[in-house]
Amino acid sequence: MPEKDSCIFCKILAGEIPARVVFEDDLVVALEDINPQAPLHYLIIPRKHIRTTLDLTTADNAMIGHVFQVAGKLAHDLGFAEDGFRVVNNCNEMGGQVVWHIHFHLLGGREMGWPPG
Ligand code: 5GP
Repeated sequence: MPEKDSCIFCKILAGEIPARVVFEDDLVVALEDINPQAPLHYLIIPRKHIRTTLDLTTADNAMIGHVFQVAGKLAHDLGFAEDGFRVVNNCNEMGGQVVWHIHFHLLGGREMGWPPG
């Protein structure tokens, strides 16, 4: 079975699993993380099934740029842009990735520590 067919994020994007969507367009969907690590924790998920950051190609450059524009727009529209926020991508096991469909965490609502855990 292709990995895409068992991908939980593909199922969410297809409407087969419910999610609290805060933004969507033809390239990405943004939704509330089910297990928030900050008072504000959203996932920006490209509609295209891409396994990890290592699987990106130049064809994805515009889409990745769009992800960051959406992150800034969401932070602005939801009222936490000025306070500050963090955008995170976890890649592979030691990077903390557990869902094998590329996604970007948008975190806000508290002071972020550095270095991250
Ligand atoms: P990763 O560790 O792969 O970067 O992050 C995966 C994220 O997906 C985690 O923060 C986890 O809470 C979130 N997540 C996993 N399954 C679901 C789900 O079914 N719905 C939502 N909204 N988030 C999920």
